Amino acid sequence: MKRILVTGGAGFIGSHLCKRLLNEGNMVICLDNLFSSSKDKIIPFLDNPYFEFVRHDVTFPYFAEVDEIYNLACPASPVNYQYDAIQTIKTSVMGAINMLGLAKRVDAKILQASTSEVYGDPEIHPQTEEYWGHVNPIGIRSCYDEGKRCAESLFINYHQQNSVKIKIIRIFNTYGPNMELNDGRVVSNFIIQALKNEDITIYGNGLQSRSFQYVDDLIEAMIRMMKTGDDFTGPVNVGNPIEFTMLELAKIVLELTGSKSKIVNLPLPTDDPTQRQPNIELAKRELNNWEPTVQLKEGLQKTIEYFDQTLKK
Ligand code: UDP
Repeated sequence: MKRILVTGGAGFIGSHLCKRLLNEGNMVICLDNLFSSSKDKIIPFLDNPYFEFVRHDVTFPYFAEVDEIYNLACPASPVNYQYDAIQTIKTSVMGAINMLGLAKRVDAKILQASTSEVYGDPEIHPQTEEYWGHVNPIGIRSCYDEGKRCAESLFINYHQQNSVKIKIIRIFNTYGPNMELNDGRVVSNFIIQALKNEDITIYGNGLQSRSFQYVDDLIEAMIRMMKTGDDFTGPVNVGNPIEFTMLELAKIVLELTGSKSKIVNLPLPTDDPTQRQPNIELAKRELNNWEPTVQLKEGLQKTIEYFDQTLKK
């Protein structure tokens, strides 16, 4: 039985990861300060003797004897990470330092949940891992983008200087059940608006694009990444390369929900990336032929069911 620490374990992705790790017979410590998450999502695990919830902020050191660490802790939706920009950058940077220190001390393998945001508003398309990115270091997204870039640097340096066994994945837009109602990201916003027959808020003209990955595909990639040999550190892109404009997404959500909502256009936030699509050749090669298996309509259907149930509670 492995002892596994998941920082941000009560979050959207963390809760799915904890569930999968428990189902595979591991002992899981879920560390979370519940800033952008809630205990609701981990309630189903609280009576499992192999699950432990610790309310803790990763900007402060934490110690536990563990074999593996998944470092997910950080608010990830633009609304949440811009709410307290200083805390966001501290969470990425000091969280990485504290968790890498722990990994070094107990000789644990550590995986960093990095992000496609390290590419900023990309000038090459699709993005490969070799691309260095195009990030505004003083813009409103920089607390998140630069925090995550600095964390990648820390991971690589702990690996090179201290032989810490690291793994870095760059997660592209991910959606699915367990997103918070007030998350603020596009998929949850559109679905909730459609279910309530409220206006669908497209920022800008809606021609900006994203590639949406269903959460189960991401979890599979994370588990496979942790199992790769010690010489493979990444970074590796993990996402679904099929790209949609926000206008297309809005129309699909309207079709699937049968909603009477109207589409309205609101101002585009500054530094909003124009397009984003992962090149996933490296993931396919190194993660045992991993590729996304859930396509947008199927994943949205499951997410709509989740929000429909949640709104009725
Ligand atoms: N967006 C939108 N309406 C919303 C929320 C987001 O049109 O209610 C747009 C946003 O401007 C961006 C895209 O959807 O172009 C994806 O935004 P999200 O916050 O989900 O994630 P990002 O990829 O920007 O971090």
